[in-house]
Amino acid sequence: ADTYGAVPMTLLRSFELQQPEGGRSTLHIELQVPSGASYKEGDHLGVLPRNPRTLVDRVLSRFSLQGDAKVRLQGSGRAAAHLPLDQAVELRELLTSSVELQEPATRAQLKELAEKTVCPPHRVEIEALMNDDETYKREVLFKRLTMLDILEKYRACEMEFRRFLTLLPPLKPRYYSISSSPKLDANKLSLTVAVVRGPARSGSGEYAGIASNYLASLPEGTELFAFIRDPGSGFALPEDPMTPMIMVGPGTGLAPFRGFLQARHVQHEQDIALGEAQLYFGCRNPDTDYLYQDELEAYAQEGLVHLHTAFSRVDGQPKTYVQHRMAENTAEVIRLLDAGGIFYVCGDGTRMAPDVEATLRRAYADVHGASEEESQKWLDGLQESGRYVKDVWTG
Ligand code: FAD
Repeated sequence: ADTYGAVPMTLLRSFELQQPEGGRSTLHIELQVPSGASYKEGDHLGVLPRNPRTLVDRVLSRFSLQGDAKVRLQGSGRAAAHLPLDQAVELRELLTSSVELQEPATRAQLKELAEKTVCPPHRVEIEALMNDDETYKREVLFKRLTMLDILEKYRACEMEFRRFLTLLPPLKPRYYSISSSPKLDANKLSLTVAVVRGPARSGSGEYAGIASNYLASLPEGTELFAFIRDPGSGFALPEDPMTPMIMVGPGTGLAPFRGFLQARHVQHEQDIALGEAQLYFGCRNPDTDYLYQDELEAYAQEGLVHLHTAFSRVDGQPKTYVQHRMAENTAEVIRLLDAGGIFYVCGDGTRMAPDVEATLRRAYADVHGASEEESQKWLDGLQESGRYVKDVWTG
């Protein structure tokens, strides 16, 4: 916690935003802002997660260790910087709060596991996992095969617990875009968290993401360690409220825009004149995962935003994504940007954000009859001047 300046924050409220028929979970989580701390719309919250008991028990069982046994670790240098050194600490706590247990094994780890395996055929099997890039990517990275998985499968691997511990990476904070505005209530902040859970890509059992499931497991009134961070990317409300805004945020990409809209609602009530705003939100089906539907529709009614929705799984309708809605509105999008507007995109950085960017470039080309090169130059200029800002992530 010290490394990141994380402080205890109380979880005030947590509830499901999706309908059960969808089979997925997205949580609205409200936290108390600690006294002395403050945040802005668009900031991130870094959450220090804890590993689940089941995962920690697997490690204890593999190494025949007792969770309540105390250990005193010694060491120095960067490799051990995240471990509590020179103090007595319970093994269970150490495994719960210090190391990543579910990261795919690295090649260096595989090499060491193979070296420590006394049964030759099994050593060969472990070595085969890193023989070539393709196999390593397919069998280890994609399936997220961990050191623990390998140790459980190959009992003849005689790696010592201390070595296992040292090889594990530090448990990293996970970041969440704050989905509220301090203008509405400076003492609270909210997160909109998609709970990562589903059939494991390894083909066996269920995969559960560490931080999202940790957050999902916390009862109201409990504390977690977290810290507020300015994204440093200019992803914030425009300084001048008259600046037009185009916001693109499907799924949990909606999070920061909910904060922006709350702020606009407060500004509107204070009779502050606001520029035009468009929000492109997408989800699978309005009946299952339309996050904050009532709020968004109320803001649209209030005239705070033009709401454009795209649904990808509605029976009898073509799959529609946010970029399709944007493409239907190119004239409007470019008009607002030509008027000095800011283009914001938040959410999936793997497919959605590049598709949105390509749509934006094409929109400019179509509206202004510009060449591909000119459109790219325009987009680069927009980015350099802080008028095209992204808050995107992968995974
Ligand atoms: P992890 O334990 O980190 O596991 C995730 C990994 O598991 C990924 O590599 C994924 O590909 C893999 N995986 C997923 N499913 C499976 C499966 N079935 N089998 C095998 N592997 C699988 N998230 C939000 O929900 N809301 C936000 O507002 C938000 N904002 C973010 C802002 C930023 C700047 C960043 C960087 C990320 C943001 N995220 C947000 C993502 C968030 O930080 C976490 O990455 C996410 O919650 C998953 O973390 P986890 O610990 O639950 O999963």
